[in-house]
Amino acid sequence: MKEDFTAAKGWLERIGELPIAHPVAVMNVCGGHERSLTQLGLRGVLPPNVKLISGPGCPVCVCPEEDLADAIALALTGDVTLVAFGDMLRVPINAAKGEVRSLAEARAKGADIRPISAPQEAVALAASNPARPVVFFAAGFETTTAPVAAMLAQGVPENLSVLLAARLTWPAVDMLLASGDAALDALIAPGHVAAVMGASEWGFIPERYHLPVAVAGFSANSLLAALYSVLRQKLAGKPFLDNCYAELVAPEGNLRAQALLAEVMEVTDANWRGIGVVPRSGFALRGEWKRFDARARFEFSALPRRRAGEMPPGCDCAAVVLGKKQPDQCRLYGTACTPQNPVGPCMVSDEGACHIWWQGGTRA
Ligand code: SF4
Repeated sequence: MKEDFTAAKGWLERIGELPIAHPVAVMNVCGGHERSLTQLGLRGVLPPNVKLISGPGCPVCVCPEEDLADAIALALTGDVTLVAFGDMLRVPINAAKGEVRSLAEARAKGADIRPISAPQEAVALAASNPARPVVFFAAGFETTTAPVAAMLAQGVPENLSVLLAARLTWPAVDMLLASGDAALDALIAPGHVAAVMGASEWGFIPERYHLPVAVAGFSANSLLAALYSVLRQKLAGKPFLDNCYAELVAPEGNLRAQALLAEVMEVTDANWRGIGVVPRSGFALRGEWKRFDARARFEFSALPRRRAGEMPPGCDCAAVVLGKKQPDQCRLYGTACTPQNPVGPCMVSDEGACHIWWQGGTRA
């Protein structure tokens, strides 16, 4: 259905009427928000003092090299069929010279790797090939991880296992704000994550950091309403948590999905690519579900890598993910690094800021 921009124009007019005398930096945490903002061209129509900064909401971009290297190594054993969301296949790692650098390269060398778009496809594949081990490389945030938990809780074929690289969004934002490195004045919180985990999860931003925050959906109307809210809060000096996606997001979120997550998984410390270990920001299988952990089920040797946990040389993806640089401030943007020949993960994923900016027509 085509979006009606009438309400969005109203929000834009109201934003234009705000007395914004000084620059205000607003981070949109979600990669989907970045895509909508860029596709709608909102940066070009906002007052010059309002700066929109993309944040850490791209799960492919923050998937650590070691997890990707494990997936490649496991697939290269030839003993399994590895399935993953399509974006992951082209993400490069810092492999040693001559070594396989991505799942796509492993597939070209004969590994059985298949892209999927939903967990049910992994279940169907395993069910139709009971003699063949199928490994689901499950990288993603809460919105992806909750369906993985539901999949396991509902029962899966014994030949299906999971290579989990799941992350919680808010701890990375918390760490960024606690570091004091982020020159941010307000945040827009991710609508889909909030739909699962609850809008109230983002209340720590005004409470602990005294910054405005609003949960937004993906339409121009919802994004501009959230932007207007945080700008008003900033001008009033009274930050609070606003929910501008109330049609989908409840304060407490989806309790059934949260219960399944808690039943199947436990929260752990986790490494984020280019960022480092973020306390209590990852998931691991718990209890009886550990038997579906591919790392416990299969033996494989880690791939040699040049610099564990970091970005390729010259790639500023870590700074882009943390909102410290805009994509076009990377010297490789559009020169050595393009969607056809990506150097870093931010240029691969549909939710990566570099890829989104390039597709949106921003040239260095
Ligand atoms: Fe990394 Fe490419 Fe983005 Fe630069 S343009 S930060 S190399 S992904």
